Order: sequence, then structure tokens, then C-alpha cells
Amino acid sequence: MGAPPQLSPEARKAALLKAAQSRKRRAEIKGKIKSGEYSVDAVLELSRTDDAIAKMRVRELLEALSGVGKVRAQVLMEKLNISPTRRIVGLGRHQIKELRNEFMKPVHATRPGKLLVLSGPGGVGKSTVATRLRQTGDFWVSVSATTRAPRTNELHGVDYYFISNDEFDRRVKEDEFLEWAEFAGNRYGTPSNEVLDALNRGENVLLEIEIDGAKQVKAHLPQAILVFLEPPSWEELVARLEGRGTDGPERRAHRLELAQEELAAASFFDHVVVNDEVERVVGLLVSFAS
Ligand code: 5GP
Repeated sequence: MGAPPQLSPEARKAALLKAAQSRKRRAEIKGKIKSGEYSVDAVLELSRTDDAIAKMRVRELLEALSGVGKVRAQVLMEKLNISPTRRIVGLGRHQIKELRNEFMKPVHATRPGKLLVLSGPGGVGKSTVATRLRQTGDFWVSVSATTRAPRTNELHGVDYYFISNDEFDRRVKEDEFLEWAEFAGNRYGTPSNEVLDALNRGENVLLEIEIDGAKQVKAHLPQAILVFLEPPSWEELVARLEGRGTDGPERRAHRLELAQEELAAASFFDHVVVNDEVERVVGLLVSFAS
């Protein structure tokens, strides 16, 4: 590449001003896409006359759409053969048509979200996958209530709602859980209203729960997609459970016993996924909900 052209101070100032204006315009458009005011169609149309929008990356456009996070945007772009750095102006006619088809419905159309239930033996790495999925923005991840005491670093309202036995009893009695189960001496439950509200808003929802609870969800909501996460090998699972500094020896032994029973439940599930690499698993889960 040759040296960049030498600009006079005035020309440099003008170029900087133009770049700042374009950035401002793109931020404004992204805000309108996020709020549902602009559809994909509208943005593609505007890009024909608005240089700032024409130069927006396709990835930015997709990620600004409600219900589309980083991973779903990437999956879509791969599906439509759009390179990761492609700008709107660089889209081919065929790609524009495909993008329009993909988002025919207005962005704020209320299709209920998909419900994905991630389950599998304790220690297989479900919560790491769930945390990663939450970061992508493709899923609303449910926070469960539990009677278990918080581990160090766990926060009330973020990792769990840590509640007393009496409060758990009350919620069971009032039918506030979509499902609940006992696991290793503690009770865990999924708050029903929060999950149903998110689905009705059109968000894809992820529950990260143990196997008995997953079966209950399927009985209530047959459209739920059940995913069983398997360890790459039994030895790996044992190593993970043994290595957990957060549990005492008795609890670890109990968890190992439980894990053996849990592994046998895979056949009940819609998909069985080996947890060999978090990013691969996250991509698969996003594709199951697309
Ligand atoms: P931990 O105590 O290690 O956080 O979780 C123990 C087990 O409870 C894990 O298998 C986890 O997936 C499961 N779990 C967490 N929340 C819920 C829930 O709301 N319902 C059910 N059935 N299981 C849950």
C-alpha cells in the first residue's frame, strides 16, 4: 500500500468532520432499527441515497435488529454467503433479495420466541454455555430460584434468586414455577411469568436446568426444544466434578452418582450435543432457535 495522501489542515478538518457526521448518522439509524422504527427493507432502501448508511457494515445492521445478536447475525451471514466485513453498498442483487426475504415481516411483528431447554449432567458445563449465550444477546436467559446457599462470586438476581425453604414452598403452592425439581438436597425452580413474558415479547428464551425439570417443561410446553449437553467423555466429567473447589467431598461423590444416572436420560431429548467447544455449542443452540 502506498503512503496516504498528504492533506492540508483544512482538508483534514473537513474529512474528520465528514467522518464524525457519518458515525452520528449511523448511530441514529441503528437506534431506529433497534426500536423497530426502521425495517431491514427501509434501511436497504435508504442506503441507495444515503452514503453513511451505504457504508454501514451488514453485520452492524443485523446486530441492531431486535432478537438478532452477534451469533445469529453471523449464522445468517454465513447462510447468505455475505463476508463478515461486507458493507451494505457491497451487497449483490441476489444477497439483497435474500436479506429482504429473511426479514419480510415488520421487525416488531410479535412472533413468540423459541424456548430452548439446556440440560445434561451436573459438571458438563451448562452454565458456561448459558453465560456465553447471554453475552451474545441472542437469548434471554432465565434466572432460577433456589434454596441452595450462594457460592462465592454468585449474585442474587444474576446467578439465582436465593430464597428460603418457606418462600420456595409458597411459590410452589401459588403455582409460580413453570417447573421445579430437587437436586442434590436443594430445590430449584423456573419462574413462570418471567419466561412467558419474554416469549410473548418475541425473545428466544434459554432455560439451563436439570433433567427432571426439562421433562416437566416439555409436558407443559411441547414446542420447547430440549437439548442434552454431553461431556466429551466420562473421564472428563469426573475430572470436572472432582476439580470443583466449591463442593465438599461428600457432595462431590453424590454429584458423581447423580451424573451417572443423568447421562442415561439423553434419549428423551430433541438434540444431543457434545460440549467439546463452547463457541461451537453456542452456534448450534442459536441455529436450533432460528
Ligand atoms: P448448581 O447448584 O450447580 O448451580 O445447579 C445444580 C443443578 O440444578 C444444575 O444441573 C442446574 O442446571 C440445575 N438447575 C438450575 N436451575 C434450575 C431450575 O430452575 N430448575 C431445575 N429443574 N433445575 C435447575
